[in-house]
Amino acid sequence: MTRSPILLVHGGAWDIPADQLEAHEQGVFDALQTGWSVLERGGSALDAIEAAVTAMEDDPAFDAGRGSFLTRDGRVQLDALIMDGATLRAGGVACVERIRNPIQAARLVLDKSHHVYFVAQGAEQFAASHGLPLVDNSELVLDRERERLAEAQRRERTGVPDPTFSGSPSQESSETQSHDTVGAIALDSQGRVAAATSTGGTLNKAPGRVGDSSLIGCGCYADNASAAVSLTGWGEPIMKLVLGKWATDRVLAGGSPEQVAPDAISYLHRRLGGHGGIILLAPDGRFGLAHNTPRMAWGVHTVDGPRVGTNLRERDADDPLP
Ligand code: ASP
Repeated sequence: MTRSPILLVHGGAWDIPADQLEAHEQGVFDALQTGWSVLERGGSALDAIEAAVTAMEDDPAFDAGRGSFLTRDGRVQLDALIMDGATLRAGGVACVERIRNPIQAARLVLDKSHHVYFVAQGAEQFAASHGLPLVDNSELVLDRERERLAEAQRRERTGVPDPTFSGSPSQESSETQSHDTVGAIALDSQGRVAAATSTGGTLNKAPGRVGDSSLIGCGCYADNASAAVSLTGWGEPIMKLVLGKWATDRVLAGGSPEQVAPDAISYLHRRLGGHGGIILLAPDGRFGLAHNTPRMAWGVHTVDGPRVGTNLRERDADDPLP
């Protein structure tokens, strides 16, 4: 049976400042266009989400690829996962410093390796051996991020709370601090779902720290028996709850993605005081989005066209997403 394709993307959940809203909306819109062009011509969900996430990694508005947050020692260190719901094949990379598009390295792991996950130099060597160019880490670092790191570390030294510092967040600050991770999930015309998440992690993170985004079942998961999901937010609580798998299991048990998405975010907050956002899509085309942060950059493309926004909580009750 031929399905109508659907693509959902997010560009992070936090208190996105007013002067950055346009860049975030434009970024998710561009990613939708890129991914949709794959689905529209009958391409796979896997190719569509890789293309959409690559577009957001290339966009310095987001904390993925070039322009990501910096580690405590001033380097970009990236994590990404891609998963094919039709086959359960998955590929992940973490702590890579020399790859411009870690989602493409993750895709190579999925396609070319019987392993599922590579880290650090091993991941870089694997990607390079399959043709991905390696770059100098300084090419991924923006002055904007050097300044942001210096400010976070100044506040850390002086004990002034910083709403954008996420090294060790309080429950309150996790709602507003910067989380610009990107993700995409899709359903293709052959009924296959897939999911991808890519991140630079949290600002001022310890070198070697890995968050939820690239861990299977935490910030990303896809299974045609249940659903595809991508999450963003304060990674440590999301990991502890294995929240992506929690959400897809509830869809498998009969929950609707529209309801399971807000339930997952409520569970994150109830159990661990966590904040974040989620996009969730079932193989029958039903989907849900939710966040408990003030804003989340999101986009949905169906056969009726693209829709983007930065605040689902303010949507009119009589204007639900389809
Ligand atoms: N979840 C990511 C992490 O903890 C951060 C984010 O969503 O922006 O690495």
